[in-house]
Amino acid sequence: MTAKPRKTLGEMAAAGDVGLVCRACGCRDLRVYYTRGTKDGRVRRVRKCRHCGAEKTTFEADAFH
Ligand SMILES: [Zn+2]
Repeated sequence: MTAKPRKTLGEMAAAGDVGLVCRACGCRDLRVYYTRGTKDGRVRRVRKCRHCGAEKTTFEADAFH
């Protein structure tokens, strides 16, 4: 068995593989500001950091397509 090295929070945020970390301050306390579907079937979510107020927009593919 091999243990995968764990990335730090900052590394994950820099790599963009975590959707719930504020890139501005590195905290995870983001709230969904609004959610809206797009024409191509994805979901656009705008999240707002509760600490610094930075907004983060994510696009999520619909799992049923
Ligand atoms: Zn923040």
